[in-house]
Amino acid sequence: MAKKKIPSLPKLLQSKIYKTGQTRGADDDVIFQNRVNRNSTVLIPYDFYEISRTAPDNDGVFENGFIVLINPTFYFTTENINDILTSKGLSLGENCLLFYETRKEWNEFNPITKNLVLAQSRINPLGGHYVARVPSTTSANDEKLNLGYNTTSLKGAGIRIYEYASSQIIKNTQIQLEFLFWQCVDSHQVALEAGMTEENIILRKESIFEICAERKLSEIGLLQANRMIDKENNTICPLCMEKLKGMGFLSRLSQAEGRAVPDLTVTEINLFHIRELRIGEFNHKPYNLGWGHHHCNVVCKDSGIIDTLKWMKSVTDKNIAEGIVF
Ligand SMILES: [Zn+2]
Repeated sequence: MAKKKIPSLPKLLQSKIYKTGQTRGADDDVIFQNRVNRNSTVLIPYDFYEISRTAPDNDGVFENGFIVLINPTFYFTTENINDILTSKGLSLGENCLLFYETRKEWNEFNPITKNLVLAQSRINPLGGHYVARVPSTTSANDEKLNLGYNTTSLKGAGIRIYEYASSQIIKNTQIQLEFLFWQCVDSHQVALEAGMTEENIILRKESIFEICAERKLSEIGLLQANRMIDKENNTICPLCMEKLKGMGFLSRLSQAEGRAVPDLTVTEINLFHIRELRIGEFNHKPYNLGWGHHHCNVVCKDSGIIDTLKWMKSVTDKNIAEGIVF
């Protein structure tokens, strides 16, 4: 098939879709990397190693490896710990590290007095044995310890295991998320307003829809069952099920352009995980990512949609039972 040149999306929309392939929400006080691709080195807590050690695709191999994090108290108080690790294919300094998180661990099993070395790399071998993120304790007046993976060039040891997705899965989710943008009731108008030409909109849509069909990313039944589109095939917020307005994807654009009065009817739209991210599952994948209202996403965040709905129902039921009119 001859390769067609696919016209670009408006910058803000392109960047919104691109960023879904990256992790968010980590700062220097945690061990995680911020704004890196979801196929980066994964950090696996030792207790979850058995259920998390197999990547969801790529023959079970994580594209950039993994680091198992071991609690120092567990390590130094378990007999024959190195044999146990070896039996699981683990080795301190190669693919696992001691992770100091409390002052007590630091004081009782101080790695410096044990001649242990700070880890230097995200790739096996890790070039050291430990990493520390110990908060300061105000009563003892001691300083926090952020040791290892704390330089500009090596910030964060890796990503949370449940954030992981392979580069192929990341691409497919991004294509499906763009498909969902085009299924918004007013996407055509919004794309025009954002500077795309009529011709380019048609070309872009055709290409994306073609790829989606080839890769089975636009199966209507599945998209509906997973609360991503409604019966009219329009993109909806997975929690409140309202049709999404395409302008919500470009809300920052309208402010940047200096419109005198920001359009308050435009609600910011965020990436929405239908089944929430949780350890033991790899839920950043096609048919589990939608777009939703920022506030609906915040409400659902860690509980999942159905549990959130149950909670909402119990709240309204109780209020009605108490005679509250709203
Ligand atoms: Zn909503």
